[in-house]
Amino acid sequence: MKESNDSMTRGRFVAGAVVLPALAGLLLAETTTARAGGSKAQFKYQSTPSHGQQCSQCRFFKPGSSASANGTCSVVDGAISPKGWCTAFSHK
Ligand code: SF4
Repeated sequence: MKESNDSMTRGRFVAGAVVLPALAGLLLAETTTARAGGSKAQFKYQSTPSHGQQCSQCRFFKPGSSASANGTCSVVDGAISPKGWCTAFSHK
């Protein structure tokens, strides 16, 4: 009888040890997805080109309504100038 209770307790412990980290991982993944972008300060964003590189040439840039309008970026949060630049620049 006692052995049965012990194995039940062990079973619950093992299940908890597996399930809880998995839930924590899911919560973390959801948080990461909800806020994928970093701050302008984090990536040292500037509104002017750097060494001939600018956001309109970057693979992460999503253009605005015209070639000169601000767009968005999949790396940096907020409005992004097509003539801007940051340390995450990656040529298209
Ligand atoms: S990653 Fe940086 S350089 Fe590229 S579009 Fe975003 S802000 Fe501009």
